[in-house]
Amino acid sequence: MITNNSSETKKLGHKFTKKLKPGNVVLLYGDLGAGKTTFVQAIAKGLGIKDRILSPTFVLQRSYKIEDSSIRYLNHIDLYRIEDPKDAKELGLSELISDKESITIIEWADRLKNLNPKMGFEIYFKYKGENEREIEIKKI
Ligand code: ADP
Ligand code: MG
Repeated sequence: MITNNSSETKKLGHKFTKKLKPGNVVLLYGDLGAGKTTFVQAIAKGLGIKDRILSPTFVLQRSYKIEDSSIRYLNHIDLYRIEDPKDAKELGLSELISDKESITIIEWADRLKNLNPKMGFEIYFKYKGENEREIEIKKI
């Protein structure tokens, strides 16, 4: 799909939220500024999270509690700054990925091999022009 501004990407993210089930992992791929965090913000809003979603670039991981839903948490991970695959262990990444009651979204998923989630989606973001992005959603 093509979006022509960030609100269109947010609309897409909001619509995509309906496809999410507890235990799903969403792997996001694409360069800096391609729209990954924008998309995550829309998902958070779609799940009823009122906190502002910041890019977890410096913290690597943040969890947001979801009220009145079969989904308990939205775990947002950004692997941009991960330097050593061993850091993933410290992050408790495999526990988050296998958390059957939450949704785990991972930006820069290509920074780690062998994430191997069982259920969820892979989403590819491509910068096409100042406000144009190509977004491809694949089911895992
Ligand atoms: P990433 O997390 O992939 O690094 P961000 O979502 O943080 O990217 O940033 C995307 C930037 O590009 C934002 O400043 C946003 O306003 C801008 N932008 C422009 N057009 C679009 C679009 N069609 N979709 C998403 N973001 C867009
Ligand atoms: Mg980001």
